[in-house]
Amino acid sequence: MTGEILAPEDAIRCDACPVACFIKPGRAGACDRYGNKDGKLVRLDPHVILERSLAQGAEAVAFLGNAKDWDGTLVRGPEHFVTAIGAGTTYPDYKPAPFIVSSKFDGVDMVTVVTEGIFSYCGVKVKIDTDRYIGAERSLVRADGEAVGHVTTSEYGSQMLSLGGVHHLTGGSRKQGTATCETLLSLCNGKEVGLTVDGASLLIAAGKPPAIDGNLEERMRVGCGSATIGIFARQWAGKVDEVVVVDDHITGVLSEHQAGKVLDTAPTGIKIAGRRSTAGRYFQVAEPGTSWGGTNITDPLSIIKGFNAKVAWPGLRLLMVSTTGEQFAYFELDEALHPVEKELPQSLRESVDRIRENCEPAMTSVLFMCGAGGSLRAGVTENPVRLTRSIKEKITRVTCGGAPAYIWPGGGITLMVDVTRMPANSFGYVPTPAIVAPIEFTLPVEAYRAMGGHMDCIRPLADVIADENQQKIAMRAENPWPLTTAGGKP
Ligand code: SF4
Repeated sequence: MTGEILAPEDAIRCDACPVACFIKPGRAGACDRYGNKDGKLVRLDPHVILERSLAQGAEAVAFLGNAKDWDGTLVRGPEHFVTAIGAGTTYPDYKPAPFIVSSKFDGVDMVTVVTEGIFSYCGVKVKIDTDRYIGAERSLVRADGEAVGHVTTSEYGSQMLSLGGVHHLTGGSRKQGTATCETLLSLCNGKEVGLTVDGASLLIAAGKPPAIDGNLEERMRVGCGSATIGIFARQWAGKVDEVVVVDDHITGVLSEHQAGKVLDTAPTGIKIAGRRSTAGRYFQVAEPGTSWGGTNITDPLSIIKGFNAKVAWPGLRLLMVSTTGEQFAYFELDEALHPVEKELPQSLRESVDRIRENCEPAMTSVLFMCGAGGSLRAGVTENPVRLTRSIKEKITRVTCGGAPAYIWPGGGITLMVDVTRMPANSFGYVPTPAIVAPIEFTLPVEAYRAMGGHMDCIRPLADVIADENQQKIAMRAENPWPLTTAGGKP
């Protein structure tokens, strides 16, 4: 027998996502985003409006084109931008977006269409500024024991994670999908998240230094071992005979490196473990690890296989240093050409300090990535492909909570946004599971008409910003005003 689920008495049914909660009076639905207030379905969080004051770059103008209560002064008040945070969704999307707002910018009539998108196809790319080994590429990343992503190709001075994605959200068990959704939600909202990779533990939050196996990372390396030789070679000239910069990827050796040759550094006959790539650049000198230069060595001499007796000489001065300057050791060769550790001379301490000084603070960066090229577009226009084309042609500008979004080339609307440039707690979730993220499309009104936009749903900005349950916050100084480049302007 088939039949409809009957609503409990007094409950109303939320239609803002596929879960379709029944919500009793005074209660919230499963996602805590919608509630039953006096028999009405309401969005519980305030709707976020960005404000830009003159101090932040708004221009003074002689006439008030977009304010309804001009008081006669020559300068208008703060400009406003209606974000999608707290705006609500339009599931199943054939309805127009919750807010389609007209405003004037730079003499042009503009439209901003805002909606909270429900994204099953989404994830985060995480950049962790560290050389420390956190697991082999393609290793699974786990939260609460569930696979939520993997270690991906490392970048210059950073380890990278790719978390979430439709397979982790929908392709495994419910527990895995929930763990993935919770991990994404926390990272996107700037909260700290504990993850494990092959037994290593990570504690990360967007915009904060990462902790790896309980150790807070302070410095991002100055460069690879070879780059460090290139940067500091001149500062070592005459003060030391040989420098080895230990790095898991490319260990640099001053006397053999092109920079050393140009500075007439004499050969030292040093023999280094690993595979010689090009002059003064060695790969695989040790195993990856969490010690010197992202290797597993704790004794730097373990990567030195000796000195050629025909070239080296007693008293030869050797500096070994890591790519962050956090580890260093100074040696002089004895009569048998064995390195003997000595106190680091003051003249070399300055260069080690300089390496440390040149390291940037280690940070965790989180970019939210999602596909907005699906049904969400129907809330913007009756002819969705025209929205996609308009974005590609840079007529429509895409922002997330007012923060600029990078749109990938190729098909669809695949975007990335730095979550630290968005207002706090911009993200939500629904238990399908999927992430709810704000998205705004801004374009000239004539372009909106031409793409088949929902013209009859446009509301003037002045009306929208008079609504109740709003939170007005200052736009972030680092973000361009969202209307600035919409319409194909530079
Ligand atoms: S989970 Fe949230 S959005 Fe989905 S139906 Fe329930 S209250 Fe509405």
